[in-house]
Parts: sequence; C-alpha cells; structure tokens
Amino acid sequence: MKIGIVGCGGRMGRMLIKQVLDHPACTLAGASEAPGNGALGQDPGVLVGSPATGLVIGDDAKALFQVSDGVIDFTAPQVTLAHAALAAETRTALIVGTTGFDAAAQAALAAFAARTVIFQAANFSIGVNLLLGLSEQVGRLLGNEYDAEILEMHHKHKVDAPSGTALALGRAVASGRGVDLDAVAERVRDGITGARTPGDIGFATLRGGAVIGDHTVMFAADGERIELTHKASDRSIYSSGAVRAALWCQGRDPGFYGMRDLLGFA
Ligand code: NAD
Repeated sequence: MKIGIVGCGGRMGRMLIKQVLDHPACTLAGASEAPGNGALGQDPGVLVGSPATGLVIGDDAKALFQVSDGVIDFTAPQVTLAHAALAAETRTALIVGTTGFDAAAQAALAAFAARTVIFQAANFSIGVNLLLGLSEQVGRLLGNEYDAEILEMHHKHKVDAPSGTALALGRAVASGRGVDLDAVAERVRDGITGARTPGDIGFATLRGGAVIGDHTVMFAADGERIELTHKASDRSIYSSGAVRAALWCQGRDPGFYGMRDLLGFA
C-alpha cells in the first residue's frame, strides 16, 4: 500500500514516516508539511534518521493525495478538514488521528465519508481501545450509583482539553448507561460548584512535562472506588495502530470507520 503522511514534521508525523518505512506491507508515497515549515525540501527518510528515500517533503497536499492509496493525518482539525476534501476528490482513504474537533467540524469530517474511506480514532492504541470497551461495560453494569470521573494527563505542548481519548472514554461510559455524554458532561469545575449532580460524568485535565498520555476512568461510590488506568510510554503505539488502520482500509467501500470496526467490537 502506498501511504502518504501529512504533517510529517510533527511529533506523530515523524513516527509515522518511520513506521511506514519499516513496515513490509507499505511504501512511503510522499510526505507534506505546512508552507514555511522547516522540514520542507528535506528527504523524509533522512528527517527521521532512516536511509534516504529519494522523496522530497513538499507543501502540495493535493499532489500527495494523487499518488497515495491512503494518507495518514495527525495535524489539526481545520487542516484535517481540508485534507478530507482532497481525500474525497481523489478517492483516497484518509486515516485521521487529529483530535480537538468540535461538533460542526466532526460532522463535516463525517460527511466526506460518503465519497471516500475515512478512518478516525482519537487514540490508535490497542490498550486504550480495550479500556474504551471496558469503560462502556462497567458504565452499563454500575449505572448512576457509581460516580464516573475521567482523569487525563498529557505533555505540556498539547493544545486541546480534555483529550480526545478522555472524551471518547466519557462517551463510552455514557453509552453504557444509555445517555448522551453532552447532556451529562462536567468538563470543567471551578469555584463554588455545588454538590455533584448524580449521573454527571466529570473530567479533570493535567498538563506537564513529556507525559505521552495517561487516562484513568474512576467509578466512585460510598465505601469503594474502581479505577481503570492506561498509561502510554511510547508514541509508537499510535503510529503502529494508524498504519495498521491504513492497511485495513485497503479495498473498503466509502464509509466512516474506527477502531471498533478494525478490532471487531462493532
Ligand atoms: P505536532 O504539532 O507535533 O504536529 C502537527 C504537525 O502538523 C506540525 O508539524 C504542523 O506543522 C503540521 N501541519 C499544520 N498545518 C499543516 C498543513 N496545512 N499541511 C501539512 N501539515 C501541517 O502535534 P502532534 O503531537 O504530532 O499531534 C498532532 C495531532 O494528533 C493532535 O491533534 C494530537 O492530539 C493528535 N494525536 C492523536 C493520537 C491518536 O492516537 N489519535 C496520538 C497522538 C496525537
């Protein structure tokens, strides 16, 4: 499979280049960055400390989509939407790791799936996707008698909060309880908040240092507390999951897919 990487100079973009170059089932179709980015003009292999590929990092995303079977995008929501339009136009699969979409941007992204394959995961790690499945199950089993709180910590550079994964975990608990997360989410608490409303799903966000991604889903009742925790210690769990997703997308009909489809939870 010929895979293109957009945002290839970013933290995840670099890991993705390495992953694609090292994977026996893929070849790197090319790599792009934003106009003005320091990675432009470089060989993507050399950028990540691998042998030269003969390719050159450019800023023409459309040209990259035209030569790729699938493109992996870990950038920013508005950038990803522009790429989704190119994916639909060129009928190229788009694998989206970007987080921080608001409801309107998310709906716009999903709309492109009528014309091409869009695969989105707020978190490509297998362990986190297991945590999602468990959170939904525990939410279903315990219901509102146990207060659900979601705690996450990420590195100091992260720009969105709560993390896409924390929100996905909240949606999993809400879905287990048969409610809509938006109706019960308590995303920020500050000052005199009053007592906790039964059924709310609370979020707490920590930022600092180089933490790759920690998530805990807590279920608290009088006298006991259950905590389900996942801690990422290497970013390659995301890039390997994204490449696995790209390969899974090969030959699929247009549609909107996610890790539940890939792992067979759907
Ligand atoms: P980063 O800032 O290091 O990288 C983003 C890159 O996108 C930058 O190099 C930037 O120059 C580039 N970019 C911006 N505009 C562009 C354009 N028009 N064309 C091409 N490239 C462009 O960020 P990061 O840590 O790599 O994270 C990127 C996104 O991925 C974030 O939303 C983050 O939350 C998400 N993420 C998701 C997962 C997951 O498993 N789904 C894991 C880690 C990070």
